[in-house]
Amino acid sequence: MGTDNVIFLEVIEWFDETGKELVHRIPEQGSGEIKFGAQLIVRESQAGVLFYKGKAGDAFGPGRHTLKTANIPVLTKILAIPWAMTSPLRAEVYIANMKIFPNLKWGTRDPVAFKDSELGLIRLRAHGVFNIQVVQPVLFINRLVGTMGKYNTEEIEEYLKRVIISRFNDHLGENLDSIFSLPGQYEELSMGLQKRLQDDFSHFGLGLDNLYITSITPPADVQKAIDDKSRLGVIQDLDRLVKMKAAMAMEKAAESTGEAGSGIGMGMGLMMPAMFAEAFRPKEGGDTGGSPGPVPQENNCPDCGHSIPRDSKFCPHCGHQQLVFDQCVNCGKNLPPNAKFCSKCGHPADEKPLSMICSNCKTENLPGASFCNQCGEKLG
Ligand SMILES: [Zn+2]
Ligand SMILES: [Zn+2]
Ligand SMILES: [Zn+2]
Repeated sequence: MGTDNVIFLEVIEWFDETGKELVHRIPEQGSGEIKFGAQLIVRESQAGVLFYKGKAGDAFGPGRHTLKTANIPVLTKILAIPWAMTSPLRAEVYIANMKIFPNLKWGTRDPVAFKDSELGLIRLRAHGVFNIQVVQPVLFINRLVGTMGKYNTEEIEEYLKRVIISRFNDHLGENLDSIFSLPGQYEELSMGLQKRLQDDFSHFGLGLDNLYITSITPPADVQKAIDDKSRLGVIQDLDRLVKMKAAMAMEKAAESTGEAGSGIGMGMGLMMPAMFAEAFRPKEGGDTGGSPGPVPQENNCPDCGHSIPRDSKFCPHCGHQQLVFDQCVNCGKNLPPNAKFCSKCGHPADEKPLSMICSNCKTENLPGASFCNQCGEKLG
């Protein structure tokens, strides 16, 4: 992020030809100088997020926006920054793609450690699929770009996959006694893992859905050891072993429709604000990429039910936060953009989640991990 590479921005827009980019930074490198009165063009199923001084400050829904001090309230009211004709604003814009990304693959790069009650420490590989959708674009940018320093789709996906692996490891550690009992628990493990990750991903402003574990495989030598042990009669129930092997190689058909409005992100206390959700309403032809129909100017607050302007970031009646800017890393409370401290637990608003260092092998694990990926030791 060199500062010598300054790009003047007059028209800010982005069209993802690949359909695979979750988020796009403008400019791609260096910093942007946004001219007073610059045009920000946000397409259907996109959100434009203004990133200023390391923080995502505001979001723009689909449409053409003329960027002036007056329509960036976060600059005027909260940061108290006058933005004159003469001085461009040094900021970046992130365009988040709000559509559902179906059938993304996750998998262990290095096998994770699992303490098996019968076999001792073994290393497992696992693979699966998942769907994600950006539900709260400002929170998404603040968490992944601002806090975690992940700037593009590859880095973000890579990080999210690490989160899945880490939670998979925790989930197995807490819910599976031995891989011998895997066959009966496969479905349950998948569902439990999804639930756990939905909560995690909601703190990144993301909805998660259709998460499946498609395979859990021990390395060949462990597999051989299992076979040997079984020959030695450790496993009396041969039928159980056969079932286990079947489960390990199991390929679960991960049917996912990827249809807009499939309810992703629902039921985890994280709603997409009306200013973006509008793009996903069924229209004639059923296509979200078509020409936008007339946009209703009013919506109902999900909390108090009052009719509120479509682009409201807070409900004027009850104060319910429609657009989530940031969350406390300690307690998860939604924070307003100017918060210095969490009003619920008092933690600093810019606190970063801490990595968990394993006391046994000193490996750094992701924040919130409960079992070490490297040695299987319980953390914390
Ligand atoms: Zn309300
Ligand atoms: Zn808090
Ligand atoms: Zn360890």
